[in-house]
Amino acid sequence: MEKPEKIRHTPRLFVKADLAMGQPVRVTDDQAHYLRHVMRMKPDEALRLFNGRDGEFLARIDDMPKNAVNLVAEKELRKQHRVPDLWLCAAPIKKAHFDYMIEKATELGVAVIQPILTARTQIREVNAERVRAIAIEAAEQSERLDIPEIRAPVTLKELAVPWPVDRIPIVCAELGAAVPAYQAMQALANPKTAILIGPEGGFAEEEFALLHQLPQAIFIRLGPRILRADTAAIAALSLWQALCGDWK
Ligand code: SAH
Repeated sequence: MEKPEKIRHTPRLFVKADLAMGQPVRVTDDQAHYLRHVMRMKPDEALRLFNGRDGEFLARIDDMPKNAVNLVAEKELRKQHRVPDLWLCAAPIKKAHFDYMIEKATELGVAVIQPILTARTQIREVNAERVRAIAIEAAEQSERLDIPEIRAPVTLKELAVPWPVDRIPIVCAELGAAVPAYQAMQALANPKTAILIGPEGGFAEEEFALLHQLPQAIFIRLGPRILRADTAAIAALSLWQALCGDWK
């Protein structure tokens, strides 16, 4: 049985397969290539596996025929638990910054990432496969037990009408009436939250008007400076986790 600190350095992989004691697990061809050629792993070496449902298991490489790697789940290390019920609803922005936002939102524990197409959104397409791969890698690295759900882009109107009544929309507004973020989040009673972030050009006037109609909508200011959308996402998510989420 590995000592805890050794386990921490054991590679982690997200797998689709069910995980249970003694359960054989096949990994994808890409994962097999990664284990064999990048991590240079050998039979009998250990890995940590999670699938978003069954917690985290210590697994061993059983054999490595041709280009496959066959594992066996041996021991449950952690029970499955959920991240707080926090959504990030953000307009897609320039690729590098959007990829960065996806990675940071995953590390910061969002449950759902909902791209929103707004009037000033330049990038109208999201490469679902690329974004999912980024989220999986960030989940593996950050020791999450699940992958954030990444939804297909919708327009702000489609998202807002009808808005789920039990979820508080927190709109990040660099202009107009807004409450200092710390003060607004401190007062939050309902943990079910969505944080909304606009595109490089910000939300349009009519979008602010639409958002103001949402019941319980809160408009927050993230300080006096204009942040890039990815910076705003990190700032708002961090503050929320510290005040309302699982950093407490
Ligand atoms: N409209 C601004 C830029 C928008 S920045 C301009 O023209 O320069 C992109 C998004 O980040 C905004 O839509 C907002 O959601 C968020 N954001 C940036 N700075 C912010 C601040 N100081 N307070 C709240 N939200 C902010």
